[in-house]
Amino acid sequence: MEIGFIGLGQMGSAIAGNLVKAGHDVTVWNRSADKTRPLVEIGARRAETPTGAAAGKVVFTMLANDQAVERVVFGDDGVLASAARPIHVSMSTISVALAERLTEAHAASGGDFISAPVFGRPSFAAAGKLAVVAAGDDKALEVCEPLFAAIGQRTFKVGAAPKNANVIKLCGNFMILAAIESLAEAMTLAAKNGVEKATLLDVLTNTLFGSPIYQTYGDILLHERFEPAGFAAPLGLKDMNLVDSAALSSRVPMPFLGVLRAQLLATIARHGEDIDWSALGKVVTENSGL
Ligand code: NAP
Repeated sequence: MEIGFIGLGQMGSAIAGNLVKAGHDVTVWNRSADKTRPLVEIGARRAETPTGAAAGKVVFTMLANDQAVERVVFGDDGVLASAARPIHVSMSTISVALAERLTEAHAASGGDFISAPVFGRPSFAAAGKLAVVAAGDDKALEVCEPLFAAIGQRTFKVGAAPKNANVIKLCGNFMILAAIESLAEAMTLAAKNGVEKATLLDVLTNTLFGSPIYQTYGDILLHERFEPAGFAAPLGLKDMNLVDSAALSSRVPMPFLGVLRAQLLATIARHGEDIDWSALGKVVTENSGL
C-alpha cells in the first residue's frame, strides 16, 4: 500500500521500519531530516514536507505532543493541505481535545481520521509487538488492518469515536506510572528491611502481580536501567498533564494523579530531561535515605 509516515523519533523510526519491511511503499518526513536516512537506506522515500508524505492512501503521524501534531496537520505544508485526502492515522499520545479537533477537521475536508495510539516501549515497536488501540470509521479501520498487523501483536477496535482510543491510552499511562511508583515504594521498603529487591520481585511477579508492566518495570528498577531513556520523563509529564486536562473537563477528581506528577517533576528536576520516566524510582529511594 502507498503510505506516508511523519515523525521518526524512537517510536516512529521503529514503526516505519516495520512498514517498509512488510513491503509497503512508504514515504517519510521528519522535522530533523537526518533521521530519514536509515529508512531511505531500507527502501523508503523522503518527502520534503508533511504534505508530500500525505500523497498515498494512508498517512501516519507519530510525534512528541499536541503542538507537533498541530504543526504537521494544520500547517501550510501540512497533511490537510494534501489533495489526496489520505486516511490520517494518529499514533501519538495527544489530548482528547485535539483528537476531537482532528476528527472535525478531517470530516470537514472530506477525509477519514483514525486515532491509534499504542502501548509498548521502543523495543516492542522494533519487534512489531505493540498493542494498537484504534478507533474511527469501520471502513477506514479495515483499510488500515494490514498496516496495524505489521507493527503490532494485537489491534483493539474501541469504537467509532476516535477520541475513545486517546482516553484509553491516557488511562493506561496513568496506571503504568502508578504501578512504577508503587513498585518503587515496595522495593525500597523491602531493601530497607534487609530483603533483596530481586526476591520481592520473584515472589510478586510470579504470583499476584504477573503482568507485563510489573515484570518490565520491576526489572528496569532492579537494574536501574534509566539511561538511555526508552520513554523520556518529559513525555511522561506531558501525558500526566493530558490526563489532568481530561479529568478537569470531565469533572473527575484524581488525587493520586497529583502525587505521580509531583514525583515525575522531582525526577526531572534532580536527574535531567534525558532520563526514563521510571527513574522516578530513584526519587523514591533518595527520599528513603538509602
Ligand atoms: P521522540 O523520540 O522524542 O520523537 C518525537 C518526534 O516528534 C520526533 O520525530 C520529533 O522530531 C518530532 N517533533 C517534536 N516536536 C516537533 C514539532 N514541533 N514539529 C514537528 N515534529 C516534532 O518520542 P517517542 O518516544 O518516539 O514518542 C512519540 C510519541 O509516542 C509521543 O506522543 C509519546 O508519548 C508516544 N509513545 C511513546 C512510547 C515510548 O515508550 N517511547 C510508547 C508509546 C507511545 P525531531 O526528530 O526533529 O526532534
